[in-house]
Amino acid sequence: MKTLNDFNFKDKKALIRVDFNVPLNENFEVTDRTRINAAKPTIIKILEDGGSCVLMSHLGRPKGKQEEFSLKHIVSDLEDVLGVEVHFAQDCIGDDVKELANKLNPGEILLLENLRFYDEETKGDKDFAEKLSRLGDVYVNDAFGTAHRAHASTTIVAQFFPENKCFGHLLAQEIESIKKVLEDGESPVLAILGGAKVSSKITVIENILDKVDDLIIGGGMTFTFIKALGGSIGDSICEDDKMALALDILKQAEAKNVKIHLPVDVVAADEFSNDANTQICDVKQIPNGWQGLDAGPESLKVFDIVVNNSKTILWNGPLGVFEMENFAKGTISLGDSIAEATKNGAFSLVGGGDSVAAVKQFGFEDKVSYVSTGGGAMLESLEGKTLPGIAAILE
Ligand code: AMP
Repeated sequence: MKTLNDFNFKDKKALIRVDFNVPLNENFEVTDRTRINAAKPTIIKILEDGGSCVLMSHLGRPKGKQEEFSLKHIVSDLEDVLGVEVHFAQDCIGDDVKELANKLNPGEILLLENLRFYDEETKGDKDFAEKLSRLGDVYVNDAFGTAHRAHASTTIVAQFFPENKCFGHLLAQEIESIKKVLEDGESPVLAILGGAKVSSKITVIENILDKVDDLIIGGGMTFTFIKALGGSIGDSICEDDKMALALDILKQAEAKNVKIHLPVDVVAADEFSNDANTQICDVKQIPNGWQGLDAGPESLKVFDIVVNNSKTILWNGPLGVFEMENFAKGTISLGDSIAEATKNGAFSLVGGGDSVAAVKQFGFEDKVSYVSTGGGAMLESLEGKTLPGIAAILE
C-alpha cells in the first residue's frame, strides 16, 4: 500500500483529491471545519517536502455551474487552517487552470473550482479525468468520504499515474482503522449496530458476523428482531418484511458462535415527541399505543459490561432517537462505556453517519480511538466491499 511516506515531493506537484464537501450557512460561511482540518497533515507533509499542492474536491450537488456551490467560499477557512496563502482557480480543467498549476512554486497551493460543475466528474468520464491528470506529477487520494464512488477524480484519474499515486494520511488512517477492527482486531471483538432500519444494515451485519465475538443490536432495528421472536412491540418502528431475515441472522450468529445482545428493556413513549409521556418497559411487553425510543437502564448495564469486556469495538448507529434529549440517554451511556473501555486499552472505531454526529454532539470525539470521516464509504467497507477509490491506488 503506497502512502505519502513512499514519496519525496521536492519540486513535485501533487494533485490531491480532498473532501472539502463542508456545510455552509446562508451567508456561505463554513460552519464545520472538520474535513478541512482532516486534510491538513497531507498538505503540510507535501509542502514541507518542498512540493506544491493542487487541491480538487466537490461541494454539494450542483446542477451545472452554480455560484452557491463554488469552492471559493472555503478559501479563507482553508488559509486559516493551513496558515498558507491559497490560490483559487475559477475552473478545474482547461488552459488557464493548467497555466496556474504550472506557475506554482514549491510551498504553494492551488484550489480548483468544484469538480461537480462538470457532469463528467460523477460519470467517471475518462477524458475529463485525463484533463485533471495534467495538473500534477503525483496523484494523492485523501478523500475517504467519496472513496466508494468511481468518479473521475476519485478513481479514474489514478490510471494516468501508473507509478506515481498514493494514499494521503487521512485515507491511509481510515483504511488502517477498518483493518484494525475487521482483520487484526484483538479479541473479544464487539460490533454495536444501532440506527433506524435493519434493511440499511443487513449487509453489514452479515459481513461482520464472521469477524466479531459479540454483536449489540440497538436502536429502531431492535423491534424487528423482538417481534420476530414473538415479543409485543406496541407501536415501535418495525420492518415486518425483514422478520424472517432477523431470525436467520440470529441463527447464523449462533452457528458462528457470535453472542447477540438485544436490549432487554426500553424507554417507551406514547408519541414520537420529546414531550411524550414515557415509561420503562420490558422490550417484549410494550403496550399498544407506546413505542420504544431508547434503550432502558437494564439494557445499558448489560451493554456496559459487554463493552468493557471487549478489546476491539466498532460502533455504527445510535441506540435511540438521540436527536430528542429525552431519548438520548442510551446513546450517551453507550458513549461513556466505550470511552471507558478505550481508556483501558481497547481500540474503538466510530463510523457511519449518525453515530458520528452523536459522538460529536456529546463530546466523545477525543475519547474514542478513531472517528471515521466517511458515512457511505464506511458502511460499504463494513459490508466487505473494496472501494473503487482504494482499489485504483492499489492496482
Ligand atoms: P441510521 O441512519 O440507520 O443509523 O439511523 C439513525 C436514526 O435512527 C437516528 O436518526 C435515530 O433517531 C433513529 N432511531 C434510533 N432508535 C430509534 C427508535 N427506537 N425508533 C425510531 N428511530 C430510531
